[in-house]
Amino acid sequence: MKLKQLYFFLLVLSPLLLNAAKLDIGIFHSMEKNEITFTSITGKYAVIGNQTIISNVLKNNSVRIAIFQDSLLNFYQNDTLIGQYQEIRFSGKGFINDFSIKIENSPTKLREYDDDLIVRIYNNKMQLINHVDIENYTAGVVQSEALGSSTDLQFFFVQAITCRTYALVNYLKHAEEGFNLCDDIHCQSYSSRCHHADITRATARTSGEVIVDEDNRMISAAFHSNCGGQTVNSEDVWTIETSYLKSIRDTFCTHESNAHWEYAMKKEDWLHFLKEKYNYPIEDKKMQTLACTYVQNKRKVFFENGIPLKQIRHDLHLRSTFFSLEQKGDSVLFHGRGYGHGVGLCQQGAIKMANDGLNYKDIISFYYSNTSIIHYSQLHYDFMP
Ligand SMILES: [Zn+2]
Ligand SMILES: [Zn+2]
Repeated sequence: MKLKQLYFFLLVLSPLLLNAAKLDIGIFHSMEKNEITFTSITGKYAVIGNQTIISNVLKNNSVRIAIFQDSLLNFYQNDTLIGQYQEIRFSGKGFINDFSIKIENSPTKLREYDDDLIVRIYNNKMQLINHVDIENYTAGVVQSEALGSSTDLQFFFVQAITCRTYALVNYLKHAEEGFNLCDDIHCQSYSSRCHHADITRATARTSGEVIVDEDNRMISAAFHSNCGGQTVNSEDVWTIETSYLKSIRDTFCTHESNAHWEYAMKKEDWLHFLKEKYNYPIEDKKMQTLACTYVQNKRKVFFENGIPLKQIRHDLHLRSTFFSLEQKGDSVLFHGRGYGHGVGLCQQGAIKMANDGLNYKDIISFYYSNTSIIHYSQLHYDFMP
């Protein structure tokens, strides 16, 4: 077993198998934090300063922590300085524990979280870590990422399973900073505990479920807004081929809001762009016509002359690489389909499938080829690449 596999097994899977699955999430990750107010909403919290119990916070009570000379944390209770520590932990003592955090002197709204909080100094800055049950975290992420896009339970099942799979696959993403994942879109957006009953229910009903490929390895569950009617092979975007991120035809998303887009450009500017950027032979009339009448009925990887479509998309900030061109007077009109990279799950298609009454397992296996859903306790630990 490689060291990374052993680490994964000891730190992540073995506690998961013991049903005590917790993740460390860096919260308020990208924000300046010099002083915070912690309030217990449910349950009593023990306060542990440098590994010794220093106090308790009862329900509805608050305490304050302020950074001192970039190296210590001042802990205040009832406006009295109790002591100075490198690390302060709030450990919930009840069956259910949740708390709120207010960042002082900041416009950021108060946020609520489940389970425990660790406050410490990292690189002379205050770091906040939510030590949270994986199911509570998953529900919070689904609420942050999917609320408003659908009210369908089957879609929430899909989101819960993909978010949980992502968390376990990427558990080492912030290992250097001492936690697993941050709360930004860099990892997965996690802006508070879940308050939405259907999302809590959907997470609980799929508790522990993750998506695996044919070799029982958890998948990289890529997704995008709308594929325009055909998804993309992962190797065509990221050069990495997988058995599950395969191009498929999708008829579910083609009438949804992000199925079509248009973009117009002066013909002269378009040809100039191709010449400047890719040395495209615009002197050749035939090549010029090809460049202005390019058609994709099925998705292609390259534009004329071997120019990667993903590069054109990037340079012109287009919604997708799935476009055809039409000449109109002295302009070229881009007729585009879809929104996003097109790899993996198409969100608007998945929502439509759920609305049409399809089951979450059908939705997942439709977008992720050759996969199955298992409980993570069935994972063999030796699955890392
Ligand atoms: Zn991150
Ligand atoms: Zn689609």
